[in-house]
Amino acid sequence: MDLSYPPEAETFRTEIRGWLEENLPDGWFDEGFEMTPEEKKQFNEEWTQKLFDGGWICATWPVEYGGKGLTTIQGVVLSEEFSRAKAPMRADFFGDTLVGPTILMNGTEEQKKYFLPKILDGSMRWCQGFSEPDSGSDLASLKTTAVLDGEEWVVNGQKVWTTQAQFADYCFVLARTDPDVKKQAGISYLLVPMDQPGVEVRGIVQPDGTAEFNEVFFDNVRCPKDNVVGGLNNGWKVANDTLGFERGMSATTGHRRFEEEFRRMVEMARANGTIEHPHIRQELARYYSKIQILRINGLRNLTATLTKRRDPGTAALGATNKMFWSEMHKAAMELAIEICGASAMLVDAGPADGAWPAVMRAKGRDTYQVSPMMSSFFFSRSETIWGGTSQIQRNIVGEKILGLPREPKTEAKPPT
Ligand SMILES: Cc1cc2nc3c(=O)[nH]c(=O)nc-3n(C[C@H](O)[C@H](O)[C@H](O)COP(=O)(O)OP(=O)(O)OC[C@H]3O[C@@H](n4cnc5c(N)ncnc54)[C@H](O)[C@@H]3O)c2cc1C
Repeated sequence: MDLSYPPEAETFRTEIRGWLEENLPDGWFDEGFEMTPEEKKQFNEEWTQKLFDGGWICATWPVEYGGKGLTTIQGVVLSEEFSRAKAPMRADFFGDTLVGPTILMNGTEEQKKYFLPKILDGSMRWCQGFSEPDSGSDLASLKTTAVLDGEEWVVNGQKVWTTQAQFADYCFVLARTDPDVKKQAGISYLLVPMDQPGVEVRGIVQPDGTAEFNEVFFDNVRCPKDNVVGGLNNGWKVANDTLGFERGMSATTGHRRFEEEFRRMVEMARANGTIEHPHIRQELARYYSKIQILRINGLRNLTATLTKRRDPGTAALGATNKMFWSEMHKAAMELAIEICGASAMLVDAGPADGAWPAVMRAKGRDTYQVSPMMSSFFFSRSETIWGGTSQIQRNIVGEKILGLPREPKTEAKPPT
C-alpha cells in the first residue's frame, strides 16, 4: 500500500500552508493560543470573506460556476491542511455539501449557472424537503404532489424535520409528479422558492426551548417548470445522490474531530482518576481503535474515488461508514458521560476549559443550558437517525451488496 500523495499535491499543500500562515491571526499556531470574545467575533466576521477571496469555499467546483476547479486530490489536501491548522471552513451544510454537488452532478447548464454562484457566495440559503410525517425511512411512499400548470409546478403537501427551513430561501423538495407508476418511478426533485404565499414553516420546539427543525406546509405553492433537477420523474436517483453526499464524510479528515474528542476524554479521565478503571481504559482503547478504522476506511474511499473503482464493496462504503461513525460516536459520548460521573449533570459538564471539538448547536438556549460536551452528547443521539437510520444502512448493505433476500414490501403502488 502506497499512502504517499503525488508531487503536485504536495506542492499544493505548501501553497495552502503558506496561505493559512499568512491569513490566520498572529499566534494561531502557538501553544495555548486564545482569542478574547471580541477578537473571536471579529475573526468570525472576517474569516468567511477571506475564505471567499482566497477561493477556498467549494474550491473543487468548476471555475465557470465560481469555484477554483481544484482536482479531487487537491480538495483532499485543502481539507487536510485546514483540519491540521484547526482553521474553520464555512459550514453551509445544505448548500455547499448537499444541493450544490447534486446540481453539479445532475443539473442543467442553466441551473448550474443560476444556482451555484449564489450558493457559493452565501446569498442563497437552503433546506432539505425529503421527510414527511409517514415517509421517513420509507421515503419513496411520499405524498407531496407537484402538478404542472402552464409554465409552473403547483406543489401541495407537508414535510417534516426540515432543518433550518425558517432561514431558507429555497427548499430542494421531493414531490410525486406521476401517481400512476411504481412509487420510486413517479418522483421529481424540485427547487422551490420559500418566500411566497402558501409556504408555512412551523418550528418544532424541543425540550430545551430551541426549534432547529420544522414542519413545512405547501399549499398551492409555485415553482418554475424548469426547476426539476435531473429530469422529470428521475427524482429518486437524484435524491440518492444527495443522500450519498449526506452520508459521506471528508475522506481523510473526517476522523480528526473524533481524535480531538478522544484526547479530551483521556484528559478528563486523567484529571478525575477514572483512567485507572479497567473498564474505562478498555472503552477508551476501543474508541481509539474505531477512530483508526474510520481513518483507514477514509483512505480506501479516497483510493476508490481516485481510481474510479466501482465494485460492490466500494459502493457500500457510504452506507457502512455512516452506520459505523454514527454508532461509534453515540457510544463514545456515553463513555464521556461515564467518565464525568455525577458531574455530567452540572451545567458546565465536561473539560475544565469547556472546549469540545464540535459546533455548539442551537446557541441561545435559554430554558435549558448545556455545555458544549453535553450538546455533543445530545446531538449524537440523532446521528444514527438523520440521513437514513442505521437499520436502513444495514438493509442497503444486506440487499444491495451482500445479495441477501429483499425484505417484503407492503405496497406495490404509491398512495393516491
Ligand atoms: C437531527 C435531524 C435532522 C433532520 N433533518 C432533516 C431535514 O433537514 N430534512 C429532511 O427531509 N429530513 C430530516 N430529518 C429526518 C430524517 O431523515 C428521518 O428522521 C429519518 O429518515 C428516519 O425517518 P423517521 O423519523 O420517519 O423514522 P421511521 O422511518 O418511522 O423509523 C422508525 C424506526 O423504524 C426503523 N425502520 C423503519 N423502516 C425500517 C426497515 N425497513 N427495516 C428496519 N428498520 C426500519 C428505523 O430504523 C427507526 O428505528 C432529520 C432527522 C433528524 C434526527
